[in-house]
Amino acid sequence: MEVQDIKETKLAQNPVIGQMLINNHEQVVFCNDNATGLKAIIAIHNTVLGPSLGGTRMWNYNNEMEALNDVLRLSRGMTFKSSVAGLNLGGGKAVIIGDAKKLKSEALLRRFGKFIDSLGGKYITAEDVAMSSRDMEIIHMETDHVSGLPENMGGSGDPSPVTAYGVYVSMKASAKEIWGNDSLSGKKVLVQGIGHVGESLVEHLTKEGAKVFVNDISDERVKAAVTKYKAETVAADKMFDLDIDIYAPCALGASVNDDTLGKLKCKIICGAANNQLADEKKHGDMAKQKGILYAPDFVVNAGGIINVYYELEGYVRERAMAHAEKIYDTTWNLFQMAKAENITTNQAAIRLAEKRIESIAKINAVL
Ligand code: NAD
Repeated sequence: MEVQDIKETKLAQNPVIGQMLINNHEQVVFCNDNATGLKAIIAIHNTVLGPSLGGTRMWNYNNEMEALNDVLRLSRGMTFKSSVAGLNLGGGKAVIIGDAKKLKSEALLRRFGKFIDSLGGKYITAEDVAMSSRDMEIIHMETDHVSGLPENMGGSGDPSPVTAYGVYVSMKASAKEIWGNDSLSGKKVLVQGIGHVGESLVEHLTKEGAKVFVNDISDERVKAAVTKYKAETVAADKMFDLDIDIYAPCALGASVNDDTLGKLKCKIICGAANNQLADEKKHGDMAKQKGILYAPDFVVNAGGIINVYYELEGYVRERAMAHAEKIYDTTWNLFQMAKAENITTNQAAIRLAEKRIESIAKINAVL
C-alpha cells in the first residue's frame, strides 16, 4: 500500500482527531442545540501566544466534514497571522452550519454565545462571512469574549482603514525589494476590488502619485473611484493583460492561479484578499519562478486582526495604526529570509510565524 493510501485509510477511520493530528490542533468543540437549530464547530489551533482569536463564519456546508475541514484550515491560518504580526494571540475560528438567511436568529446566536462563554476566554470570536457587527452585539449578550464591536459599544469599529494602511506599507517594502527604494510614485498599480479596503488603498496610492487602475464587479464602486481618485477603469477580461508594476488583489481569494500567473506582467503581488494563492505550494513556486515577488496575504492584511487586538486592550486607533506600520519591516524581513533560505515568500512567512511560537513555547515551559 502507498504511503498516501495508508494516510487516507487512517484518516477515514479517524475523521475527527485524525484531522486534528495533521496540523496539531489543540481543541475542537462541537456545539448542538435542537431548540434553535444551532450546529457549530469551534476550532482552537494553538494558544501558545495567547487566547485564540478568529471570526465566526456562517455557511451552508454540504456536509459536516466540509465544515470541519474549513474550520481547521482557517483556525491554523489565524495562528500564523497573529504570530507573524507580533500579537499575543493564538489561532481559532468558528463555523455555524446552515443558511444564514433562513437559520440565523437572536436565540441561535445567543446560544452560540453561551458555548463561546463556556470556553472561559480560550476562544474569542469576531465577524466573518455572513456575520455582522449587530450579530456580534447579540453574541456579546451572553459572553464577553467577542471583538469587533461597534465604536458606540466601546469597540474598534471598521478595521478596513487599518488593513488598507498595512497593505500600503507592505507594498512599499515590496517596492524597496524590487526597485531599491520604496516610492510608489509613478508605479502602475491594479487594484481588484474597490470595497472597504480597496478604496482606502487607492486613496493612499493616489496621494503618493501612483498610476492606479481599478476593477470591480460593481459599476457603482468603479465609478466612485474614477470620480474621486481619477483612477482608470479596466474590464475584467483585460486586467491581467495590462502592463502594470503591481497587482493588488482586494476582492476574493484564489485570484493568483494558473490562468492569472500565465498572464500577469507585474513585478509584485500585494493585496488584502485572504487566501490569494489558489494552491499555496504550486502558485507560490510559480510566482517565484516568474520573478514575481509575492507578499504573503496573511502578513499583508494583518491590519484587521491588529485592530481587533487593540480593542481587547482598550481601543486607541493610533496604537493600532502604529502597530500596522510594523508590517513594513515584517514584509522586508521575510523577503530577506526567503532569499537566504531559497524558499518562497509564503514559506518564509510560515517559518517566521512558527519560529516565534516555538521560542515563546520554551519560555512558557520554563515558567
Ligand atoms: P468588501 O466586501 O468591502 O469589498 C470587496 C469588493 O470586491 C466589493 O466592492 C466587491 O464588489 C468586489 N468584488 C467581489 N468580487 C469581485 C470580482 N470577482 N472581481 C472584482 N471585484 C470583486 O470587502 P473588504 O472588507 O474591502 O475586504 C476585501 C478583501 O480583503 C476580502 O477578501 C477580505 O476577506 C480581505 N480582508 C479584509 C479585511 C478588512 O479589514 N476589511 C481584513 C483582512 C482581510
